[in-house]
Amino acid sequence: MTCDEAVKGYGHYGVFGGRYVAETLMPALIDVDAAYKDAVQDPAFQRELDGLLADYVGRPSPLYPASRLTAACGGAAIYLKREDLNHTGAHKINSTVGQALLAQRMGKKRLMAETGAGQHGVATATAAALFGMECDVYMGALDIKRQAPNVRRMELLGATVHAVRSGTETLKDAMSEAMRAWVTQVQDTYYVIGTVAGPHPYPKMVRDFQSVIGRETRRQCLSKTGRLPDLIVACIGGGSNAAGIFHPFLEDRKVGKLGVEAAGRGIESGEHAASICAGRVGILHGSKSFVLQNGDGQILNAHSISAGLDYPGVGPELARWAERKLIELCAVTDDDALAAFHRLTRLEGIIPALESSHALHAAMQRAASMPPENIVVVNLSGRGDKDLATVLEAGKA
Ligand SMILES: *Cc1c(COP(=O)(O)O)cnc(C)c1O
Repeated sequence: MTCDEAVKGYGHYGVFGGRYVAETLMPALIDVDAAYKDAVQDPAFQRELDGLLADYVGRPSPLYPASRLTAACGGAAIYLKREDLNHTGAHKINSTVGQALLAQRMGKKRLMAETGAGQHGVATATAAALFGMECDVYMGALDIKRQAPNVRRMELLGATVHAVRSGTETLKDAMSEAMRAWVTQVQDTYYVIGTVAGPHPYPKMVRDFQSVIGRETRRQCLSKTGRLPDLIVACIGGGSNAAGIFHPFLEDRKVGKLGVEAAGRGIESGEHAASICAGRVGILHGSKSFVLQNGDGQILNAHSISAGLDYPGVGPELARWAERKLIELCAVTDDDALAAFHRLTRLEGIIPALESSHALHAAMQRAASMPPENIVVVNLSGRGDKDLATVLEAGKA
């Protein structure tokens, strides 16, 4: 079995993945799958995507040797993959630009997406503006209240934000509503998924678009140090920044890969977002994976101080990698992530996203117990400007 298994057929990764959707959505997914397969074989599509990644997103993002952070931890050399320097400040744009380009190729006029904290909504609205497309974003009514600045941003970019008032009025309800809405307008609308979740082909497609992170890291690490990293660390919400940086190293068994979930207020508190570490196999958002659920199989709301990790599921391919022990996993609490946030800000003058701060905390701990000739790469998935209010609030507590 190769590492890139089972992307034939319906996208099963062992028992995980698949397409658990209403029959009415199947033709739409088959269309996206066919269009994507066709696009990846077309050099013109790849050229256009590469051009956008370079000139619009600002790639390649640097691989930065964080020497003061390294000295403070006193072990392996820590390098930061600077996805925070991308246009819009995170890795999500790598995939929304790719999907928008695919949508355009399919002749679609409108993009739609669901969003929790609004980051994926903003990335999708950005791509829609870039391609001159309409954009509909589905968002829980409660989240709309909590994330007013991102709602304004989406509206400025020309998107229509639809308030979802069912259930708990949060992300999982917005996901269900988005799937329902897609059925009714699939003719001219492309559904943009923000992470490596959802029904096939989304997990594979988003992983492919995000793998640019790992390909660059490989090249940059070799040219800067003459070797590959000993450990790569990435946070896991749905898993796209982790899948993107891990995938090009999957066959390199000597390169450790550590995925970091959000332990929130502690796994034992029940208030966390650690779907692999503490979830059970179930179905969410059209695919089978590890899901946070109660005894009756009802989806639970996740908790994390970082909005981007606050997702009760995880991409099916990551679930499979975890099962096959191709990656290691751990979970980091809100408090430890906050401490890492401050540490990097003061030591390097880089304000990281709270999501990325989870990976940083785990990386700093691991680096401290590794010899100085070792190399640890942290995927700095985004910048922390969006988190200032949360961090200031936590400081008062
Ligand atoms: C959305 C987000 C994440 C989590 O999403 P993944 O799909 O797990 O990568 C992590 N970091 C940042 C900055 C984000 O915006």
